[in-house]
Amino acid sequence: MKKRSILYVVVPCYNEQEVILNTSKQLKRKLTKLVSSKKIDSKSRVLYVNDGSKDKTWELIKDISKNDKLFTGICLSKNMGHQNALLAGLMTAKDYADVVISMDADLQDDIDAMDEMLDKYAAGCDIVYGVRSSRKKDTWFKRKTAHLFYRFMRLMGVNIIDNHADYRLASSRVLVDLQDYQEVNLFLRGMFTLIGYDSDVVYYERHERYAGNSKYSLKKMISLALNGITSFTIKPLRIISSLGFLITFMSFLILIYSLVVKFLGDAVSGWTFIVCSIWLVGGIQMLSLGIIGEYIGRIYSETKRRPRYVICENLLKQKKTK
Ligand code: UDP
Ligand code: MG
Repeated sequence: MKKRSILYVVVPCYNEQEVILNTSKQLKRKLTKLVSSKKIDSKSRVLYVNDGSKDKTWELIKDISKNDKLFTGICLSKNMGHQNALLAGLMTAKDYADVVISMDADLQDDIDAMDEMLDKYAAGCDIVYGVRSSRKKDTWFKRKTAHLFYRFMRLMGVNIIDNHADYRLASSRVLVDLQDYQEVNLFLRGMFTLIGYDSDVVYYERHERYAGNSKYSLKKMISLALNGITSFTIKPLRIISSLGFLITFMSFLILIYSLVVKFLGDAVSGWTFIVCSIWLVGGIQMLSLGIIGEYIGRIYSETKRRPRYVICENLLKQKKTK
């Protein structure tokens, strides 16, 4: 029989003081059960990543990990964003674990789906995606924006798993490969599908947030969506080129039309038309420049090769040296 795998559950936390104690309680129950049913090794851990929280989250994480060796944590030097925090956690965990599951601190994603994920891992899958079977418990706004987001991504030609956020199992060898994907504008759920290996999905019901509010502000959601599109597809640039061709073609027709009107001696009546076209073409040009700008902005930040996160405290290392 294969040796039991060491599981690390990576949980990014940003201002999660209201939920962290309950989450720890639930995760402890789950992991203890998994250890006793011999699905995972007793060296398995929960790794919290404090993403520059402004509340008591990091103090709580330190407390929890001091009292219980099941828990440990790393602290980022400031708020770097969910995707960067998650990456910091995954890259740290891969050195200690055989398999890593990432999930949100608010337990909206059903922790009982972990069993099935681990079964699929034992059956040979290297990546198992958690997929929300329904979003009834999400707010109307979240549901609609998420739906639009996934539809738009597919329209733009991005290979993305529907309704999969970042609740996912990945083996350590996948994470070692992920390390070579050096992009700064992170959209992890799209990157995993690029890596390959055998993968599968597990369906679960999404719950309500246990406490506190969503830490994904509209601004953060827009930024994630833009990263997802601009880091994975150049289709918008192609659309701009096609639009350019179309407009050029249309302008020939308009030229003919205006010449006809001129020769009929009725030129002034075209005023409305001219004003409309100026605005339309101007608008399309601005939009196109904006989209190109988005890509240039991404190129700019990628060429700088800045580190994607900075860990200022690592409880795992402290424990090791003790
Ligand atoms: N999060 C983070 N950094 C941020 C924003 C969010 O680490 O800048 C974490 C947050 O603590 C949670 C997860 O990312 O564990 C998902 O956030 P949230 O539940 O607020 O998002 P939603 O479920 O509303 O999409
Ligand atoms: Mg949530």
